[in-house]
Amino acid sequence: LQTSSEKLRAFIEVIPDLGLILDETGTCVDVYGGGDEVLSRQVTLFKGKPIGSVISPTEAPRLMGVMRRALERQQLELIEYTIRVNDKIRVFEGRVCPLYHYLPEEPGKKHVLWIARDITEKRQAEHRIEKLAYFDPLTSLPNRQLFKNQLQNVIDAVAEHGTYSALLFIDLDNFKRINDSLGHSVGDQLLVKIARVINAAMTTGVSLSRFGGDEFVVLQYAEEDTLSQARYAARDLARKLLDALSQSFDLAGGYYVVRASIGICLIYGSEMTESEILKYADSAMYKAKREGGNRYAFFDPELQHLADLQLKIERDIEAAIEKDQFVTHFQPQVNETGGLIGAEALVRWVHPEEGIIGPDKFIPVAEQTGAIHRIQEAVLIQACDFINQAAGKGLLHPGFTMAVNISAIQFDNDRDLVSSLRNTVNDQGLSPEWFKLEITESLLMENVALITAKMNDLRAQGFRFSIDDFGTGYSSLAYLHSFPVDELKIDRSFVDQIEAKGMAVIDAIISLSQSFGFGVVAEGVETAEQARLLIDRGVCAMQGYYFARPMDRASLLTWAERNTANSVSSGC
Ligand code: C2E
Ligand code: CA
Ligand code: CA
Repeated sequence: LQTSSEKLRAFIEVIPDLGLILDETGTCVDVYGGGDEVLSRQVTLFKGKPIGSVISPTEAPRLMGVMRRALERQQLELIEYTIRVNDKIRVFEGRVCPLYHYLPEEPGKKHVLWIARDITEKRQAEHRIEKLAYFDPLTSLPNRQLFKNQLQNVIDAVAEHGTYSALLFIDLDNFKRINDSLGHSVGDQLLVKIARVINAAMTTGVSLSRFGGDEFVVLQYAEEDTLSQARYAARDLARKLLDALSQSFDLAGGYYVVRASIGICLIYGSEMTESEILKYADSAMYKAKREGGNRYAFFDPELQHLADLQLKIERDIEAAIEKDQFVTHFQPQVNETGGLIGAEALVRWVHPEEGIIGPDKFIPVAEQTGAIHRIQEAVLIQACDFINQAAGKGLLHPGFTMAVNISAIQFDNDRDLVSSLRNTVNDQGLSPEWFKLEITESLLMENVALITAKMNDLRAQGFRFSIDDFGTGYSSLAYLHSFPVDELKIDRSFVDQIEAKGMAVIDAIISLSQSFGFGVVAEGVETAEQARLLIDRGVCAMQGYYFARPMDRASLLTWAERNTANSVSSGC
């Protein structure tokens, strides 16, 4: 007995925790040391008193409940609670364990051992860490991380309830100037003041975060039932914020006027992601800046829709390239006797769900994303395949050329354009002489020196050039002869109007090409009459539905078999 009581004394002394023995009514029967002096003194006073009388009435029932549970379940129970010690709130972690036969003289009476550990400092440290992780130290506003959590909650709530919310992205217009001229510490003071001003202007149901630098973000929780309600609420708040900011701030002995641009993105539906919402709000903010600043702008839902669609097309194009869904069709170019003298490669997207998609739908997107290079390569390879097959069968007459459309953007961005076109063609066992690159007139006016250099390079390799849609742009005739051009392609709109005003333009193009030594081809020939009028004027290269529509490679082979006999031009 002596050994074990000696052991207990030593244990109690060495551990920093407090030990209390309570009976089942909550009366403190024994108290054992531990903790600091203040605490020990206070706890010694507990002895003989019911616990409910010494701690706050709000905590007492909870503590009694834990005690009862420990006794009922006969197991260790844990609880965190606070006690006021010397006018300071302290946090304790209690471990409560049932004691059997604590008093041998009263065997029926139940007791618990309550070990209390002071975890005040640990909790304070955790709190500080959380503050560092989630709050901006300068303004004490929630930081980007906490904001993102809040935004995700709003996104979830909006998706679940079908409501509408908004995000306002605030960027100061002239902060950088003030910061640079007055120094960073003055800049910091200004940010603190601004944070206060914005905060004061906020209504309920919104939260303000600092995103870093001079960027603040306001998130509206206030869930609106309709899009227009959300729009009004966001607009009102934006106006209020701009109003609040339009005051002068007293800084470093001077007064400074701050202006802000606010971009607003409405949040609704179940599709929007955190990063999209921020991107949209950001681009709206730039719109506000572009329009002069000190104003707000909404991200246009129309644009938002388009941007979404674009994103989808972007992803789909990448996948389609992998799956070889870009298929090249060919439209014959014929001479005045209807014989095959060339073809234009026109790409289609054979989409498994949407069917055949025309180039106008995806080429502009592919140009923006850079996917155009790979699409173009696929087109060129398929064009080579046709030439190889048709030439193998002896279907192509000596001057046959394959017209391939090249996007202006490839001239601008693709530094390897010359070598990649040449290599692709060579890899298929062909030389560039088979090809005519169709470029638009407007390209010629962009960067004359650069374009001319690239065209000359390609020409030196053997490629030839045709100016597509000629007459619809405003190419400078003064420059035209300085480009290595081989052919002008009369635009469909003039052929369409050939029996009316179109004739004058066509005559002009013909005489222009004669004086510069260019060839001429007419596109969009739909009737026998149009063909006859063109031939009358000496245009002996034509392309259009009247002769043939664009068709796949196998069909063109068959078509060529029927139309090759009379393919030698009379040179009309
Ligand atoms: P484009 O170069 O002006 O091509 C001619 C367009 O007119 C083709 O439309 C063709 O199908 C159509 N067409 C041909 N004959 C007639 C006719 O008699 N009447 C009418 N109404 N239309 C006719 P498509 O195939 O939809 O191509 C549209 C545009 O897409 C092309 O205009 C070209 O700018 C672009 N494109 C097509 N393939 C490629 C490509 O491989 N690369 C690039 N960069 N652009 C391409
Ligand atoms: Ca073309
Ligand atoms: Ca054209």
